[in-house]
Order: sequence, then C-alpha cells, then structure tokens
Amino acid sequence: MRVVVLTGAGISAESGVPTFRDADGLWEGHRVEDVATPEAYDAQPFVVHRFYDARRAALSGVSPNPAHHALARLEEELGDDLLVVTQNIDDLHERAGSQRVLHMHGELLSAVCRACRGRSRWEQDLSDLPPCPRCGVPDLRPDVVWFGEIPYEMDRIYLALESADLFVSIGTSGAVYPAAGFVQQAATYGARTLELNLQASEVTTLFDETRHGRAGELVPAWVDELLVRR
Ligand SMILES: [Zn+2]
Repeated sequence: MRVVVLTGAGISAESGVPTFRDADGLWEGHRVEDVATPEAYDAQPFVVHRFYDARRAALSGVSPNPAHHALARLEEELGDDLLVVTQNIDDLHERAGSQRVLHMHGELLSAVCRACRGRSRWEQDLSDLPPCPRCGVPDLRPDVVWFGEIPYEMDRIYLALESADLFVSIGTSGAVYPAAGFVQQAATYGARTLELNLQASEVTTLFDETRHGRAGELVPAWVDELLVRR
C-alpha cells in the first residue's frame, strides 16, 4: 500500500500558523503579491525579508498538532511507502517526527543564494544581509517558491503519484496549482483519493471520498482506520 499525502495551510492553521489566504485575502496584513513574488523582492527586498524573518521567528511559538503527529506515526508503520508532500513552509511535520517530507513551496528554515544558487539551512534573519555560507556573497533570499516560480521536486512528486494506491489531501483549498491537480493525476494512475478538509475544497468533487472537519480530529482517526485494516 503506497500512500501519498498532500498537506496545505489548513493543517498548520490548527497549530496557530496564519493561513496564506484569510477571509480578507491578506497574509498577516500583506497583499500576497507584495511579499510572495520575485517582482516584489526585486522592488522592495527589505519588506519581503522582514516579512519572512517574522514568519521564521514565529515558528518557535507554534507546535505540531495531532494531525502532524498522526502522519509521523503513519510513517513509522509504512516507511518508504508513505510520502508527505507539503505546500507549507513551516517545519511542523519534521518536528512531529516525519522524515519523508517534500516541501514543494520551499522552507522558512532555508535560504537560497542568488549568486551561487546554493541552499543552506537558515534559522536567523535575512534582512541584515548576511553572507552566503557557501560563497560569501551577501545575496541570500528566502528559499520559498513565489508566485511565478516553479515548485520544487515536481518530478519526484509525479512519480510518487503515479505509483500511489491512495492519495490523501489534507487541509488544502484546492485553489493553488499544480498541487490542486494532484488528485486527478493520482486518480488517472489508479489511486483511491480522499479529501480531509475543514470544508469542501474547490476540487472536492474529484475525490472518491471526502470528510469535512478539523484535521486534528480527522487525520488521527483516518490513520487509526488505515493501520487497523492493514
Ligand atoms: Zn552563495
């Protein structure tokens, strides 16, 4: 039984991480196009740096919730047969114990150098323009995938979707592509598909089964079911 799980903002929101798209369309008071595009970074790098510096610093104030812990427990049982693909840039899956996690939209705890393209683990601020640990040039940017940029690991993700027996989408709105297309990709290759989300997503009708409620309740219950059936 090979399982691919896609997680989105909904799972982190239950840990207190502000979701990307609130009802007012703003992300912590910022328009998305002002902080999450390469054009915004070119125009106002300090605004963008300070925004991500604040998000990075806020990680120490949040903790994994029962949904993250349940996925880590599932990985203990399934090993390489489970892959978690996350749209989230926080480290809550890792802190819950998950090791097989692909961050398709990058990570707050990573910086990428615009001079040498090297990626480095990063826990401090970037707004004070520190030198790249690899080449010494002070041209580090947040290692997050902005609108208009290509997500990471797409080849590995599509390979995993093609060989999956079960695809589960957790806490995603189904509004952001390419992730919103994963359900169709998995189904085309024969996987069963399950949506676990607070409400019906924009692609909810594409799933074989949908359950709506809090991830912190739905995910542990689903993991229990799956492990009993094995
Ligand atoms: Zn460098």
